[in-house]
Parts: sequence; structure tokens; C-alpha cells
Amino acid sequence: MFKRITGTKDILPQEVGLWQDIEEKSRKIFSCYNYQEIRPPLIEDALLFNRSLGESTEIVQKQMFLVKNQKELYALRPEGTASVVRAYLENSLDKTTGFVKFYYLGAMFRLERPQKGRFRQFHHIGCEVIGSADPGVDVEVISLADALLESFCIKDYKIKLNTLGCPDDKLALTQALRKALKDKLPRLCDECKERFKTNVLRILDCKEEACLAITRNLNIHEDYLCAGCKTHFLKVKDGLDALGINYEITPHLVRGLDYYTRTVFEISHPDLGAQDALGAGGRYDGLVHELGGPAVGAIGFAFGVERLLLIMDSSAHELIGKDIVYVITLGDEARKESLKLLADLRKNAIIADTDYENKSLKGAMRKANDLKAKYVLIMGDDELKKGTITVKNMASGEQKEVRLEGIIGELKC
Ligand code: AMP
Repeated sequence: MFKRITGTKDILPQEVGLWQDIEEKSRKIFSCYNYQEIRPPLIEDALLFNRSLGESTEIVQKQMFLVKNQKELYALRPEGTASVVRAYLENSLDKTTGFVKFYYLGAMFRLERPQKGRFRQFHHIGCEVIGSADPGVDVEVISLADALLESFCIKDYKIKLNTLGCPDDKLALTQALRKALKDKLPRLCDECKERFKTNVLRILDCKEEACLAITRNLNIHEDYLCAGCKTHFLKVKDGLDALGINYEITPHLVRGLDYYTRTVFEISHPDLGAQDALGAGGRYDGLVHELGGPAVGAIGFAFGVERLLLIMDSSAHELIGKDIVYVITLGDEARKESLKLLADLRKNAIIADTDYENKSLKGAMRKANDLKAKYVLIMGDDELKKGTITVKNMASGEQKEVRLEGIIGELKC
């Protein structure tokens, strides 16, 4: 028997209701903020991610699902930002629309070691605002993330906020870190020893005890920020304060990808355990230009749907019983007649189903119970001759015979 690929998941019908709930709520909130949906392809030129995320990042180094074609190297998208920026430029939106607010829902792929809350195929709900460096956009985007969590009835999350500054500031921080960590190198974990050479900022958010002990003692102030970036961050904080959004300044928050500049944030939840990030995002003011477009500001974030589901109170989202009408037939004539009845019910937007497993009356009633049917319609050859049908209200147990032609009206009221 075939098995699903490690780190992937079958979302079975009993769970799909929750997914649809999250998707519907997200669409509603994004629309209220005037964001439009974009659906880029799931597969892209692999170089797009190398160029956007950075050659030395963990995703590019180790986690890309690569698809080798005869000549080209494709990658299943590990995240949405690079694809959205590529689509923005390829469709000349920089020239026609300029400022855009997009959202997306969909599968992402990373070749990671699977564990709780970490899959190889997972799903993002994300957004990207391209065409402005205004700190007001940062405030909108973070408040939008907050509104989404509220609509999912998720509480007790923490918004961690930091600024990386512009590329010059990032460079200053990188150099300061190199200097501060140089003589502590032997005590860092193996991965951080590597990061010291390739991506020293990442050492700041390493979760290894040995590294934490060192990095938590480093005094990282906002000294490395230029005046413009300091003011920008101040405005972001002021805006969030004005909206009453709680956040915690986290100087060690750096995010893993090269494209991040200025505002970065991560939303964590204590119930998630080791993989405690529900979602994350930040500014990437240099990426549009890096990919061949104008030098415009941009910001985005993404939530991981699997992680949202891990902490959503599933009892609060129990599937609302669908008002199913279940048709049971006794005899060949009734069976034939039921086809028309089912078609009529469905045409009238009544959810209707019937027994295709040739069950006995008792078995079919049990099935109706399992389906939590609201009504069962019993159609026998004898009743058919009289032009009637038996209607059973499954909640009250009440049963009555009604004229066949009046059945739709009976069920609708
Ligand atoms: P990232 O692009 O890594 O910042 O991811 C944004 C969010 O996606 C994270 O906060 C997680 O909620 C989710 N996420 C990232 N990687 C995975 C994964 N391998 N499995 C499940 N969810 C993930």
C-alpha cells in the first residue's frame, strides 16, 4: 500500500470544516482591509528563491524541494513573498498600479525534519503590501495580523517586534556582532559556527542553550540604527500604541531571510512548544529592486495554518450540523421516484442524500443518525401509490405523512 510522503498530511473531511472556517474568516478580514487575493504558481524558477531569500539561508541551503527539468531547475515554493514580488514585476504592476495590497492562501514546501507543527507541505495565510515604506503600512499589517488572530478566537499570543534597520544598519550590526562573538566562537553550537561565517545575524535567534547563554548577554541596543530607521520604528510603535495593540520589543529577533529590513515581527504562542511561531513577517524594502524593479518599500507576513489549528479550540469550531435531509426508499418504484425527489430537494438548496449501500431500513436509519440528518424521508411503494411520503424529524422523533407535492414547502418552513 502506498503511504503519504513524510511531513505531508491528509486533510480529511471532518477537519476540512475548520480549514474552510479559517479561510472564510481570513478572506473577510483581508477584504475589510481592502487586500486583494493573488494566486501565484506553486512552482517557480529555483533561482528566484536563491536571489530573494539569500544563498546562505537555511531554506535555500537545505530545505528547497527542487524539481530538475531537462535544462531548468525549478523549486516548489518555500514561501510566498518572492513569488508575489516576481508576479508584481512580471505583470508590470509597478508601472500600472504601483501600490498594491495582496493576500494569499496556499501550500508551501520545505524539506524540514518533521515534528509537531513542522511539516514538509504546510499552508500559509499571508499578505504582501508593495509600493510604500510608510510606517503606517507596518502598523496596518501588524494590526491586520492581530485582527486575524482575534477572528480565529486565539488568545494569549505574543507579538515580538524589532527593527533591523536599513542595509547599512544591518551591516553595522553584523560587524558589531562579529566583533562581539569572535572570542566566544568555540562555545557556539556547530550551526552557529557556520552562521558566523555566512549569516551572523541568525546566531541571535538560535534556540540552543549554549548560544542563548552568549547572545542574551550581548547588549544589542538601537545604537546601530541610523536616524531615519530610528524615526521609522518610533512611528510604527506609536501607531501600534494608538491602536492598543500589545507588543514586546525583542532586540534578538532577526528573522532568517536576507531580504528583511527595518520592521520585523513574530507572533508566538506558549501552547505550541518548541515551534512556537504562529506567524511572522517584516519589511523587505530592497527586494523589489533586487528582482529588477523600482526601489520601493514593501512588507508582509504569513501565518502557518497547521499551527493556528493546533491551538484553536476545536470544540468552539465544531462543525455546525448541516441540515441534511436523508431519503430512504423501500421498493423498486420508490427507488426510481426518489431520483426526482433528490433532484428537486437539491434544486431548492436543500442538502439531500440517500442510501447507496442497499441497507435495511434499520441500517439506513442508523446512517441518517450518523450523518446527523435533520429529517429522514421514507418513501415506500405503497405510500407512492397514495402520493404521500413519511417525514421523520430526527430531533423530536415526530413522524408524519405528507403529500409528495408539498414536501419542499414542508421542509423549508
Ligand atoms: P516563515 O516563512 O518561516 O516565517 O513562516 C511563517 C509561518 O509559517 C511560521 O510562523 C509557521 O507558523 C509557519 N511555518 C513555517 N514553516 C513551517 C513548517 N515547516 N511546517 C508548518 N508550518 C510552518
